Amino acid sequence: MSDCIFCKLANHEIPTTVVYENDLACAFEDAEPQAPVHVLVVPKQHFENMTDEIPSEVLSAMAEAVREVARIKGLDEGFRLISNAGAVAGQTVMHLHWHILGGKNLGEGLIP
Ligand code: 5GP
Ligand code: ZN
Repeated sequence: MSDCIFCKLANHEIPTTVVYENDLACAFEDAEPQAPVHVLVVPKQHFENMTDEIPSEVLSAMAEAVREVARIKGLDEGFRLISNAGAVAGQTVMHLHWHILGGKNLGEGLIP
């Protein structure tokens, strides 16, 4: 059995605040939000980060989850999508995740 926390959250082995899910991806609230809206989109299957070969249907399911989270959270004016790959990029949880940040003016830099 996997010790990966995001595998457990995405597959309901540990309860969390799910915003949206489909067959292949799950979106839940970040535990330490960096913006008024901070949701993580993760595949239900384990991949380390975007350097892995990820099946197109998984990427498509994650993209659908992004659109649905934006709709559910009312991010009509926009949002930022970030994915850290590797420790030098600041990746701390080694299960692929996309951060959706929004709900305020994030400015023009890449880092909120
Ligand atoms: P990274 O730095 O790897 O790109 O982002 C990891 C993110 O996962 C951080 O924003 C952190 O707050 C979040 N996080 C870490 N552990 C948990 C957890 O157990 N539950 C939730 N919901 N978020 C977590
Ligand atoms: Zn995992």
